[in-house]
Amino acid sequence: MDHIIIENLEVFGNHGVYAEEKKLGQKFLVSARLYLDLRTAGQCDDLESTVHYGKVSALIYDHMRQHSYQLIEAAAENIAKDILLKFNMVKKVELKIQKPWAPIGLPLEAVAVCIERGWHSVYLGMGSNMGDREDYLNSAIAAIDKRDDTFIGSISEYVESKPYKGMDQEDYLNGVCHIKTLMTPEELLLFLNETENEMGRERTTHWGARTLDLDILLYDDLVMDTEQLTIPHPELHKRDFVLVPICEIAPRLRHPVFNKTMSDLLLELKDRYVIE
Ligand code: ATP
Ligand code: CA
Ligand code: CA
Repeated sequence: MDHIIIENLEVFGNHGVYAEEKKLGQKFLVSARLYLDLRTAGQCDDLESTVHYGKVSALIYDHMRQHSYQLIEAAAENIAKDILLKFNMVKKVELKIQKPWAPIGLPLEAVAVCIERGWHSVYLGMGSNMGDREDYLNSAIAAIDKRDDTFIGSISEYVESKPYKGMDQEDYLNGVCHIKTLMTPEELLLFLNETENEMGRERTTHWGARTLDLDILLYDDLVMDTEQLTIPHPELHKRDFVLVPICEIAPRLRHPVFNKTMSDLLLELKDRYVIE
């Protein structure tokens, strides 16, 4: 993918674990690779269509000067986030911070940390079957919207559905929301669980009645299966109350395991209903 490189920007800063490092300061070298589409800028020869590398360099420089971190890991994490938030054309950034004078008493040339951070495209499933269901779904969206590291893309209409697997419960209201986030899948799950808890969700039985249920349906093209998280959501393709709303906002989105679009999966599900 196209990218812009800023190499070895020299900054004198006061980062380090030792008191001397904080007091006296030392030289750091910062490199960044900014991933974005450069084709329009290349064709139009117009600065507005790209990211001004001078401004990004100034952001890095000022950040390194104005903060005093113990770790270059923390400096890198915060600078990467700042770049992604302030320059919205940048989809991904690789950042390297080098400490040529790391005080470890051994003859090394330099020590450095390198990180890669970027925006992730995520589809969330939302459901409620207790109390003011619409209000719970809207509150979930408001909680997401409050975060500075996450943006709401599109939200489906809310659809009514019968409880899953014929469970004896009130009807559900379901929806799907597309977001862009800097959170990892694990961080996102933690945030979703906290939001569910804030809305009074009680976990008693699996598939039990709930004020709010938030599931990660898809996270980029990621395929993962750990004790905590299965992505894509393992039931996504079996549920009309997920496929109908997701098809409204992203019918051509492709399932990374089945390599089928959401609208294909919905058609298949409907076919199966007819046969069974
Ligand atoms: P289902 O996952 O079949 O929709 P549920 O939403 O009722 O059922 P919960 O009780 O909300 O299930 O979640 C049980 C656990 O599922 C969570 O603690 C979480 O660790 C795990 N989990 C696995 N994959 C996902 C995912 N993609 N999104 C949300 N939770 C997940
Ligand atoms: Ca669920
Ligand atoms: Ca859930």
